[in-house]
Amino acid sequence: MKCLNCDGDKFEEKNYRFTPEVKGEEIETVVPAMICNKCHAPLMNDAQMNLLRKAAADAYRKKHGLLTSEEIVKFRSLFGMSQAAFANYLKIGEASIKRWETYFIQDVSQDEHIRLKCDEAYAEYSALNVHWKSHPPDIYSGNRRFSWELFKQAVRYLIEFAKSPLFLNKALFYADFKHYQLYGKSITGARYAHLEYGPCPQQYENLFYFMRQEKTLINSEGHTLKTIEPADLTIFSASEKKVLEFVANLAKPDGGKKLLNLSHQEDAYKNSESMALISYELAKHLKI
Ligand SMILES: [Zn+2]
Repeated sequence: MKCLNCDGDKFEEKNYRFTPEVKGEEIETVVPAMICNKCHAPLMNDAQMNLLRKAAADAYRKKHGLLTSEEIVKFRSLFGMSQAAFANYLKIGEASIKRWETYFIQDVSQDEHIRLKCDEAYAEYSALNVHWKSHPPDIYSGNRRFSWELFKQAVRYLIEFAKSPLFLNKALFYADFKHYQLYGKSITGARYAHLEYGPCPQQYENLFYFMRQEKTLINSEGHTLKTIEPADLTIFSASEKKVLEFVANLAKPDGGKKLLNLSHQEDAYKNSESMALISYELAKHLKI
């Protein structure tokens, strides 16, 4: 490495003040650069150059009240989304996300769009979290605190056999209630409500919505859903796995039609009020 100014070849990495022009404005930015020992001129490698671009872009964003690259990354990670999933959620190209997370500055309308969409998702995300977390385990959760992770894996496993929410919800109901009947605890801690089409996890639309956002579930033909990656069954105990497999085998031949019909004849359904939560106590006389 040689100094472009004096031909010197001794450098030291030091913070240096630059005033690059960003969108027609000079933006003061302090970042590390290699400084020539002899004439003190700065020289930058690629990494330092990228850092300067990013720092200058972020200084510009701060000055103009736009989201910084870091804030955009923070939003995205809050929802556990990949760049591709986040782009899909915002309905913009993935390349834009990649650039915004570095030194390409979003314009004001794009900035508003990101904030709006993230607020929406955040509101639902926190509502969901608070909703489930505010309930200690009780007879409506099968004596278990709701676990988002276990619920997601159960969905990813059962969706292979019961492909639409209509059937999937019954398979989940049977898995949780059957495990409660045998072992005194549900698998996922989900609460089930008596809905017109049978027992369904409370807030199931929200739960599936978040899974779609995270790309753990995607829409498939008709009203069916599918998962890209197979479920990780290692997080389940031996008894939980056994019950999940048992329910999957019942759903396999007809995609869950029989489970759907049966679910309407269950005490848990017949003896619970419309729209009300179903007590796991009613799991005693399950028909499977
Ligand atoms: Zn020099």
